[in-house]
Amino acid sequence: MTAHVSIPELGLESVALDPPLFDPTAFRLRDEDAALADKARAMGQAIFAQRAAAYDRDAAFPTENYRDLHKAGFLGICIPKDQGGLGADYRAYSICAAEIGRYCGATALTWNMHVCSTLWSGPLADDLDMEPTVRAGHERRRAIHYRRIVEEGAIYAQPFSEGGAAAAGGAAFETRAEPVEGGWRVNGKKIFASLAGHADYYGVLATEQAADGALSRRNTLYLAVPSKAEGVSVVGDWDPLGMRGTVSRTLLFKDVFVEEDQALMPRGVYFQAATRWPHMFLTLSPTYMGLAQAAYDFTVKYLRGEAPGTPPVKRRMYPTKQIAVAEMRVKLEQAKPLWFQAVSEARPNPTKEQVLRAYAAQFSTMETANDLARLAIRTCGGQSMLKSLPLERIYRDSRCGSLMLPWTAELCLDRIGREALYEPGETDE
Ligand SMILES: Cc1cc2nc3c(=O)[nH]c(=O)nc-3n(C[C@H](O)[C@H](O)[C@H](O)COP(=O)(O)OP(=O)(O)OC[C@H]3O[C@@H](n4cnc5c(N)ncnc54)[C@H](O)[C@@H]3O)c2cc1C
Repeated sequence: MTAHVSIPELGLESVALDPPLFDPTAFRLRDEDAALADKARAMGQAIFAQRAAAYDRDAAFPTENYRDLHKAGFLGICIPKDQGGLGADYRAYSICAAEIGRYCGATALTWNMHVCSTLWSGPLADDLDMEPTVRAGHERRRAIHYRRIVEEGAIYAQPFSEGGAAAAGGAAFETRAEPVEGGWRVNGKKIFASLAGHADYYGVLATEQAADGALSRRNTLYLAVPSKAEGVSVVGDWDPLGMRGTVSRTLLFKDVFVEEDQALMPRGVYFQAATRWPHMFLTLSPTYMGLAQAAYDFTVKYLRGEAPGTPPVKRRMYPTKQIAVAEMRVKLEQAKPLWFQAVSEARPNPTKEQVLRAYAAQFSTMETANDLARLAIRTCGGQSMLKSLPLERIYRDSRCGSLMLPWTAELCLDRIGREALYEPGETDE
């Protein structure tokens, strides 16, 4: 039976929903989480899917989608309910992001950057060690960020990448935060900064310089730099193969003064998070789980002669098409439960097994999304890759997943191999 959802604040009435990515009964979802996922799917299906082609064509930021996300309360999805948010946990958020990714990859991916500023400073930080006074200060500061998001619709970005080894976790960030009276002076450059020019705050990772000038990963600060602050500039263009709507241009920080209250985490807490809460880096995968499902769904509809915008020509009777769909279904069924399990066990101090599974889930999701899109085009054929249809965009967007640091497909394999064969501290000497 088709479920229907209304979102009055967006003018949506009784949207006949596509089947859920994760069936609430089969995956034993809480009612509240299933309802959130339905709402995300309704927005994606009835609104974002229609706008996605234009954002992609023009490499334009999905500003209208962000207004809708705000109206529906989804900018505050991980903000606690008593502070005006929807109070979703890591898994509930991930499922919603996957649902949105089915219909607009660029919106889901950038929304992830935004949501992480609340997820990491919120439920994730609650799991980390802090002195009581430090925690009290953190709670006071994050309430400021939450208020901006809930009341004003403020959008946060997450520019970490610098082009060197830092975003992969291999070195300290070159972007520096020098302690000054009342805050920090920030200098540096971030590449591939999604939401550049469209976010209100850039959640920047910068290294706080020690008195001797040394840079250490332990001294990483996570600061919300106001986009309008003096010394912030956005340069270069953004004309990539896929995920064009992310507008991931280059950010420059030149002597930018950042107040103490803009800290999204207290000193030392980002390093603690990166080492004790590794699933924080798995949050780029939901978008691509959605894209994997979208490639499969398109193929089934197309071969049945039911894909919107195509003539009602059936191609499902050919055994080669049936085999191809079967192969796609098997790959999707392999990726989905692995991903679901990994997002379900996100927690502080995961076991070695859980960490290896998280890497495997990230690798499988990112690779499967593009693999399914490739198979979809091969199976549906030439007419399916016309730009009037979503499949060729899904194909290009899905190609980006494996490239995202710190858990690129290569780095996941690298870590699985090493950590499976060596216990911490073991060598062959
Ligand atoms: C659509 C899109 C949106 C993005 N949005 C953001 C964003 O909002 N914020 C953000 O911070 N980044 C973002 N990124 C950037 C992304 O995370 C990467 O930093 C970017 O793709 C550059 O990666 P690269 O492959 O060129 O890295 P490289 O510059 O080649 O790698 C950087 C360093 O990582 C290490 N490394 C890389 N590969 C390996 C390996 N196989 N083994 C060991 N070490 C390795 C090396 O030390 C290397 O020097 C985005 C990327 C895309 C595609």
